[in-house]
Amino acid sequence: MTDARYAGIDVGATNTRAVVADASGSLVGRARRRTPQADGPTITEAIVWTLREACDDAALDPHALTAVGVGTLGPLDTDAGAVVGPPNLPADRFELVDPLVEATGAEVRLRNDAVAGVVGERRFTDAPENTVYLTLSSGVGAGACVDGNVLSGWQGNAAEMGHVVVDSEGTLTCGCGGAGHWEAYAGGENIPTYARHLHATEGLDTDLDLDSLDAAGVFAADERGDPLGEAVVDRLVRWNTHGVATLVHAFAPEVVSLGGAVALENSERVVDPVRERLPDLLATAPPTVRVTTLGEDVVVRGALALVLPGSDETR
Ligand SMILES: [Zn+2]
Repeated sequence: MTDARYAGIDVGATNTRAVVADASGSLVGRARRRTPQADGPTITEAIVWTLREACDDAALDPHALTAVGVGTLGPLDTDAGAVVGPPNLPADRFELVDPLVEATGAEVRLRNDAVAGVVGERRFTDAPENTVYLTLSSGVGAGACVDGNVLSGWQGNAAEMGHVVVDSEGTLTCGCGGAGHWEAYAGGENIPTYARHLHATEGLDTDLDLDSLDAAGVFAADERGDPLGEAVVDRLVRWNTHGVATLVHAFAPEVVSLGGAVALENSERVVDPVRERLPDLLATAPPTVRVTTLGEDVVVRGALALVLPGSDETR
């Protein structure tokens, strides 16, 4: 076995993570930073620094890396090696591939974060060859593995499920500008807006401070029996179940694996009810619906798996 080293980077709207591993996928270094809510060059610089810190943790010169995999929030332009018009960050675009090649001299492979997630599921868990990874985080996204083939699609944007319409009335507007998109209701960034909307239109009682609300506050309100909190979470489950039914009909997964902070931190309220209600919405056999065993490392592990030896299905 060589002493080759590989890196994975997860670029999220809240955090950027990086890991360094040996050829077997065993981690030898890691780092994490807040993703700057800033312009493109600032975001790119923070991502490169996070990788450098993971290399420092592994006592490795970044130029000794063989390859770097990146799983990032989208949308992607894989030809340009950049993220273009992200709904959940203020930047118009930020570059990834060229700056990382410059910093490491290594091969850099770029995928949507949820696509990286399904690659991580396939490499590091018992996920079968028909698996969909679904992230419920700041945004909503999916990565599909069909018959053992991970789907990337044109410009890397296959299975951008957050932007399917779940509400044909189009009541709320998504960060991308579209009306009625799944992410407009269920993305962690948008849950407070949805709570304010339901409060304004349905007049539900609440002790929540609606001006300084975040998704965690909504889930805490649901847990203590606040009428508005309960209503928001019940509707979220409805939209999430419609969304999952759509991806089941599109990709015929045997397993739907959920990750992202909203799912990981509230699995009893977010994942369990979807599992219960899903069969009623399906014309086909219901898949296993579960929470990823890789936790918050699922995307960074998947980004790493994109470039580890033996990951041919992902290329
Ligand atoms: Zn959208």
